[in-house]
This record gives sequence, C-alpha cells and structure tokens, in this order.
Amino acid sequence: MNNKISRRDFVISSAAAGLAATTPVTSKAQTPAAKIKSGIKPVVIASRNGFTIKNGGDISCVETAFERMARGDDVLDSLIAGVNIVELDPEDTSVGYGGLPNADGVVQLDSCCMHGPRKQAGGVAALEGIRNPSLVAKAVMDHTDHHLLAGRGAQEFARSMGFKIEDDLNTERSRELWLNWKRRVDPRHYLDPEKRFEAGAQAGLDMVKEGLIEENDYYGTINCNGVNWKGELCGVTTTSGLAWKIPGRVGDSPILGAGLYVDGEVGAAGSTGRGEANLYGLLSYLIVEEMRSGNHPKDAGMEALRRVKDNTIEPRLLNNRGLPNFNINFYVINNVGDYAGVGLYSPENRSQYSVCTENGAELMPFEPLLDGSPSD
Ligand code: ASP
Repeated sequence: MNNKISRRDFVISSAAAGLAATTPVTSKAQTPAAKIKSGIKPVVIASRNGFTIKNGGDISCVETAFERMARGDDVLDSLIAGVNIVELDPEDTSVGYGGLPNADGVVQLDSCCMHGPRKQAGGVAALEGIRNPSLVAKAVMDHTDHHLLAGRGAQEFARSMGFKIEDDLNTERSRELWLNWKRRVDPRHYLDPEKRFEAGAQAGLDMVKEGLIEENDYYGTINCNGVNWKGELCGVTTTSGLAWKIPGRVGDSPILGAGLYVDGEVGAAGSTGRGEANLYGLLSYLIVEEMRSGNHPKDAGMEALRRVKDNTIEPRLLNNRGLPNFNINFYVINNVGDYAGVGLYSPENRSQYSVCTENGAELMPFEPLLDGSPSD
C-alpha cells in the first residue's frame, strides 16, 4: 500500500504558503490578527479516513485542509472543508451520510469544533437529517451563545439556519447492515441491561469478524486538527457514533474536552474509538493540560491511555489478559506543529492515522500503549 501522497500541485500550494508567510493574508473568519511565528511546522492530523480519496475526487481530507490553510483560509474552515468530504461520502459508514444508524435504524450524528484563536466552540449531538453535522456545530459556535445543541432542538436550529433537512440519511448499504444486525439481536435485549450489552455488542462484533463491516466502521469517526504558519490551532470531530447505539446515545465526539479539545496557546487533541472510555476521563482536555505542562504530544497522549487502562475494571470490558477489550485513539498536535497519534493498541497496520505537512500526506502507525490487540 502506498502510504504517502506527495503531489506537485500540493507542493506548489505549500510554496504559495511560504509566500503567505511574508505577505499579510486575510482570513475569512474574524480571527484576531496573528503574526507569522518562526519555528512552526504547519500540520493537519486526522484519523485514518482523513487519508482516503473519496468519491472519485483526487484529494483527501487532510490534503484539502492543508491546502486551504496554505491559501490563508481560516484554520477551522479549512479543517471542516476536509471533514465535509468524509461526511458526504456514502461509502464511509462511520461519519455523516450513510453512517451506520442507531438501534431503530435512524442515523444520528454528533460533532463539535473549537477555534483556538477565537476561543469559541460549538457542537451538536444526536442530530438527524443533515449530512454535514460539522457545519451545524460551526453554526452553533458562530450564531448562538451556546456550546451544544442536541436532538430535535439541534435540527430545528439547523433548519432555521438554512440547512437542508432530509428524512433519512441511510444509504442502501447502511440500512442493509442495520437489518442484518437487527435480525441477530435478542428481541428482549432492551429489557435486560446485562443482555443488552452482550447481545447488542456481540452481534455487532460478530459482523466485524464475518467481514460484513470493517472494525473502523463499527466504531469510527473523523477527528481532524491543524495548526497553520501563524500557530493558529483548531479542531473538529464528526461521527455517526457507535453503530446500532440506543437511540439518543451520545458518545464523546460532540463533547468539548472529550471528543475534542483545543487551547489556542497550547495544542489540540481529539479522539476516535470507545467514546464511553473517553467521556469517563475527559481525556482530550487532559492531553492539552499535559502539553501545557510541557509534555510532548506523544507523552501527553500516553498519559490519557494510561487513564483509560486504569479506569477499565468492569469484567465485561476486559479481555483474557485483564486489559481493555476495546480500542481508543488520540490525535494530538501542539502549538509548534509537533504531533502524535497514539492508541491503546495498534494491531498490525490497520491502526494508522493521517498526517499532512509541507511534504505531503502520509499514513502513520499509531504509537500503542499496549501490545497485541483488544481481543487477545
Ligand atoms: N468515539 C465515537 C463514539 O463513541 C465512536 C468512534 O469513534 O468509534 O461515538
């Protein structure tokens, strides 16, 4: 597999960005004026699906975001333009349109975004009928005094902002997979809390084992963070959440401090994987605070993973080795462009994250805390 993309037009764009470093640029958003800082290595980092070329296009999420940053666009607008590609992709069953639906067969989306220089944030949870929840999260940030809108209210807000509401965000594939899951589930699983987990989760994991869905899609999300030549930091996370979740279940993705945290002076961190493990410790916030104390993104991320391991003691969440039987990943950058992708586990080369710098886009293996895989 070719894990590196380096296109000529992309390099040219980066060169243009070098020019931008000496020429004042006008950002679309009202970002406080920032000077070009020396020693900053601009970067965009994202989950693995940020690397894939979508819909017959010729450019991935991370390249799109990096190119737009290079043109001088606002960093958050650039990152959102990147994740919009993934949200609209019907084949990505973990994000946006065609994301795997909840237990009732309804696609419910979560997203949040944070703007470091503006010190503003917005999010939506359990949002139905809109393919680009990241744009609605940005509208919450831009047009309200609030940080998080959920469910019906979030949809009504989006409608009032001019977003198109669709009846159903399922694709044929996501609906077919939901039907497959439904057929496997004990019809009593909503009545018995223990069975609910076992039947629901087991049926989903069996589908992964049988190759019907990729593990990355059963879980799956996109988090994308970036820093530009001026050291301006932003981040966005968007997801359809856990496949077949209980309607109304909200994971870590739209929660500030969990699925994403950005401090414009320090760094940014975001997550994919088991949201409940992240919500318990608000780990993106923890990672940014670790960086504030001077730690490198990798060490900050590892501290969060140690918290996950230490906080996982329920037998149903442990494998035969007494370790977590799930995975979780963090995507971390600091204010000068050092970055890291860390994961509880990094089994084989399926566990990778996307990076784009002036040298092009690349898939990188996660730094794992633990050997082996969640199921060992
Ligand atoms: N973290 C997301 C959630 O819990 C899902 C994922 O990234 O796998 O909703």
